[in-house]
Amino acid sequence: MTDYDLVVLGGGPGGYAAALYAASAGLSVAMVEEQKVGGTCLHRGCIPAKALLHAAEVFRTVGHAAEHGVKLPAGVTPEPDWPAANKRRAGIVNQLHRGLSGLLRRRKVTVVDGRGRLTADGAVAVDGDTLGGRATIICAGSVPRTIPGMEIDGKRVVTSDHATNDESDRLPERAAVIGGGVIGAEFASVYTDMGVQTTLLEALPHGVLPIGPDRDVADVLARSLTRRGTVVHPEARVGAVEHTGGGVMVPFETPKGSEKLEVDQVLVSIGRRPATEDIGAQEAGVRIDERGFVDVDPATLQTSRPGVYAVGDCIATPGLAHVAYAEAVVAVERILGEDPPPVDYGKVPWVVYTHPEVAWSGMTEAEARAAGHDVEVHKHALAGNGRAMILGETDGLVKVVARRGGPILGFHLVGPWASELLHEGYLSVNWEALPSEAGRLIHAHPSLSEAIGETMITFSGRSLHG
Ligand code: NAD
Repeated sequence: MTDYDLVVLGGGPGGYAAALYAASAGLSVAMVEEQKVGGTCLHRGCIPAKALLHAAEVFRTVGHAAEHGVKLPAGVTPEPDWPAANKRRAGIVNQLHRGLSGLLRRRKVTVVDGRGRLTADGAVAVDGDTLGGRATIICAGSVPRTIPGMEIDGKRVVTSDHATNDESDRLPERAAVIGGGVIGAEFASVYTDMGVQTTLLEALPHGVLPIGPDRDVADVLARSLTRRGTVVHPEARVGAVEHTGGGVMVPFETPKGSEKLEVDQVLVSIGRRPATEDIGAQEAGVRIDERGFVDVDPATLQTSRPGVYAVGDCIATPGLAHVAYAEAVVAVERILGEDPPPVDYGKVPWVVYTHPEVAWSGMTEAEARAAGHDVEVHKHALAGNGRAMILGETDGLVKVVARRGGPILGFHLVGPWASELLHEGYLSVNWEALPSEAGRLIHAHPSLSEAIGETMITFSGRSLHG
């Protein structure tokens, strides 16, 4: 038995954030990871997906270069170089992996290579060794959900695990994306912009981001994708796929009837499930709910077993790396005997890195109304924004939902750099700012952020350019 102050089970964003933060507070930490430190986010999720989205953006920009006064030599048409895009994607992941490994070493976190299991006394067993701790944090993460009977072969039928690690020499010519949530929308955006004939099959009535964002901003993305060539089928029920000589046949039914679609690749992006089936929870007395999530007190992140905590995708909170970071901080501070404020799950930042990007924090208009608020809503399109025109990207909208005469309840964006612009809105929502206060603050001219300032000013009944 080796003793530490803290044993962390899993080395993804939740796990490494817990380990780094605890080590910075002077705790001795062991972190068990069976694959590479960095987890889904670094190796099969956020980072590689965003690298591919950036490749698509560069390709799109080069395609529009002539509009900006940059001429390609006659007869030259830009084309995607998929292996080069993936080489760059892999290079970024490797660099971040080396950086993270170095940081863990410098903080003297003991990284134990292997599969850990909780033991009856709340310790963690790995390959014959037992790591005991004053406290344990479970950060077991999640894996892609799959469709029963649809075999994932990693070539023709793939999940985001494969799509973020593609080593093929070219893009598929035709792709079907099953599930129009965050992953489906991001990959539909990449593929469509890279010239792949892309069909999105979503079970719910809205085909693109049906759950989560305010409809007004999600619809701007849906319209942009459709205009660029994505074929979107809402209310689609996908049947059993069949391998054909040329690819995969995907049968599906919508209210309009039955169809069959032959594609070169199917991406299954219908959500993720917690990876908790073999972590020894039962032996340790850690309760798991019927969906497989570790049960925690959302305020403290402690499980049903005192001294054992859980954070990240293995608990039923938003499956976002930055939420896992925030949860890791709360859990470690609890272990340190402090009394941190709980994570405010209704107000976390959400970003979908599609083109155009979608981002939000707080309540949608529909949620605010359903919660019984008397709401006031103002919107400002990017169409007249000088900076957006200069970029050539005027597809976008700012939407602010406030309680009439009261604070900002929700902040919604779609458009260029929404991912970066969001944080002003995130602060407004979390500090419960009044639109009149936010409207007094100066936004640089010309900037995309001006559209946010303009929206806030509109709440006064007056306006500048709005
Ligand atoms: P999701 O839950 O966002 O979307 C899944 C979609 O699939 C839903 O719209 C659902 O209605 C649909 N669906 C389910 N079963 C279906 C079926 N049989 N046929 C057709 N459609 C079906 O899940 P995701 O996109 O797989 O993402 C998984 C997780 O990863 C989420 O927790 C997400 O927050 C996280 N993620 C976040 C980001 C980001 O923050 N930018 C990016 C990627 C993933």
